[in-house]
Amino acid sequence: MHIAYLSAGSNLGDRRHNLKSALKRMDGAGTVRATSSLFETEPVGLRDQPWFLNLAFELATGLPAEGLLRFCQTTEVRLGRIRTFRNAPRTVDLDLLFFDDDVINEPDLTVPHPRMGQRRFVLVPLAEIAPGLRHPVSKLTIREMLQRCEDPSEVRPYDWADG
Ligand code: ATP
Ligand code: CA
Ligand code: CA
Repeated sequence: MHIAYLSAGSNLGDRRHNLKSALKRMDGAGTVRATSSLFETEPVGLRDQPWFLNLAFELATGLPAEGLLRFCQTTEVRLGRIRTFRNAPRTVDLDLLFFDDDVINEPDLTVPHPRMGQRRFVLVPLAEIAPGLRHPVSKLTIREMLQRCEDPSEVRPYDWADG
């Protein structure tokens, strides 16, 4: 069994429903063992687009990292993601943040996710479920990564029950 941490985001369509469906589908890759609360987040990069809902979750899986990435990509497509242009709005984006303590540098897969340290929308949810988890290269904990993160964009709590 492997322990993976993933980030899920949606800014198109029924965002809560998209994230709920994604989590349900990820149970097909293993067991979702912990889920953060939900956050509404300001788009970073391409800023002229709807705000995101983001969460992080922990998955126990028997799949290898490449297999998990493919499972995520299939899940994105099944939930209606259409790839148009870089940073375009999406129904669901599933990113692999950590996979055990593995460091992976393949053409189609980089783990730990190389941009997570610059993203409050990734670190804030992750810090809820794994504050003491250590980055295998920098050796910083998620809490420490969040303290050092200079991303000024807004990340605010969002109730699952809100409209
Ligand atoms: P970002 O990776 O900056 O969050 P994005 O999520 O919008 O951008 P996508 O279009 O979803 O980017 O994915 C582009 C490619 O990133 C995918 O085809 C995938 O092969 C690759 N990739 C590399 N490392 C990872 C990872 N850790 N998790 C998910 N995808 C990854
Ligand atoms: Ca992403
Ligand atoms: Ca992605």
